[in-house]
Amino acid sequence: MNIQFDNTYVSLPERFYANQVPALVPEPELILANRALASQLSIDSEWLESAEGIATLAGNSVPEGAQPISQAYAGHQFGGFVPQLGDGRAILLGEVIGTDGKRYDLQLKGSGRTPFSRSGDGKSALGPVIREYILSEAMAALGVPTTRALAAVTTGETVMREEGAIAGGIFTRVASSHIRVGTFQYYHTRNDVEGLKLLAEHVVARHYPAAQEADNPYLALLESVVSAQASLIAHWMSLGFIHGVMNTDNMTVSGETIDYGPCAFMEAFHPQCVFSSIDQGARYAWGNQPEIGLWNLTRLAETLLPLVSEDSDKAIEQAEAVLSTYAERFGEAYSKRLRAKLGLSPDAPFEVITDCLNLLAEQKIDFTLFFRKLTQVANGEDPAILTSMFTDTTALDEWLNKWRGATNAILDLTAMQSANPILIPRNHRVEQAIQSAYQGDHAPFKRLVDALAAPYEERPEYADLEMQPEPDEVVHRTFCGT
Ligand code: AMP
Ligand code: MG
Repeated sequence: MNIQFDNTYVSLPERFYANQVPALVPEPELILANRALASQLSIDSEWLESAEGIATLAGNSVPEGAQPISQAYAGHQFGGFVPQLGDGRAILLGEVIGTDGKRYDLQLKGSGRTPFSRSGDGKSALGPVIREYILSEAMAALGVPTTRALAAVTTGETVMREEGAIAGGIFTRVASSHIRVGTFQYYHTRNDVEGLKLLAEHVVARHYPAAQEADNPYLALLESVVSAQASLIAHWMSLGFIHGVMNTDNMTVSGETIDYGPCAFMEAFHPQCVFSSIDQGARYAWGNQPEIGLWNLTRLAETLLPLVSEDSDKAIEQAEAVLSTYAERFGEAYSKRLRAKLGLSPDAPFEVITDCLNLLAEQKIDFTLFFRKLTQVANGEDPAILTSMFTDTTALDEWLNKWRGATNAILDLTAMQSANPILIPRNHRVEQAIQSAYQGDHAPFKRLVDALAAPYEERPEYADLEMQPEPDEVVHRTFCGT
């Protein structure tokens, strides 16, 4: 066996999934395989890059031990509930145990229709494959919990999208699991308490084994997810990351970031910043993410009520008590990350942070570049490198004085360096990598992936990737491309 499968999701009842063999594609070619990740999964990179490995990544060959399925789930999309979504263009090959002893899902995204495809073709265009590879690997290197990219292939066939017939691709995703808030909602909306119980037990065993020891394991499960998501969203916020489509089917219970559709890293700072073309009400703006996180977790809590207690009033009371801890958990994680970005000690006034964000918003300053340069100034460089970013430099000087005062001469430079990346996947660079890939040139994509593998390191050869876009390169909108 080239991949040591150890599947557990298929032992859940048949209503949890549909058996589904990936569709055949005419002419698969490998764009990139993630050798480091392959080795963490005990998969031989040489095999992965061989004809047989590529056939596996393209869905043309189902490896021994795989039990391909598409998973059922429901979800709230932009606030509206859809009782049946499910893997419409994804097929789970199976699970493997990594060298870290943890369990991982291996999933093909774009491998053809499934019973959950509704009107979709189950396929993926090449653009979203490139995008998810870059973004998810960048997030991993930035230290954010996330699903990972094992490989990207082209299929040799075209798919029909808004822009016409374009090249198709398949993305191999690795995740601690693909279980979402929407997976719980699927059983809840069907009043399938037995299904909920089996799912909850599976999740506890897989992600939160300590919850098994708790007085009420289901409440402990809720608390674990609340904690993981509060910390994840605070992490996103500190990097200027906007997920873009925080529907409940795009929120994992593991606390990993999932579904890199229309996401983006904010450039000019603004709390109401939105990139997604489909988010017209700005529901998922940068600054709304903490609140949406709680909204989604409340939907999860609702599904768990029948398990928490037979007495529904008591169940509600207990679940509410857990949900009420979210604000504090988020607040603590967020202020810790922002303090680190500014090199501030824990007792420095939070006002310095609020003032900083107001200053950035007022003058539309690039979020990543500001903190990158502030870190350089903290390291002894000429403050002029910051001044040149601002139109009203008096406001900056006033804030700098406050900042210097707040640090009480103790500036945590190491914290700043590890909280302020030099490189992020800038939207125009991602767009350039995608457009080149459609032309058959994968060099910009590979270069971006290489650069983003070490986002906190000074590497002069990638200095161009730090820069803001030229006016004609600015990306205002991002698309899921599904
Ligand atoms: P997403 O926008 O990726 O979160 O997907 C939302 C839902 O639409 C999920 O149920 C997907 O499986 C489904 N979906 C997205 N794209 C396609 C496609 N090309 N074919 C079939 N289903 C799709
Ligand atoms: Mg999704």
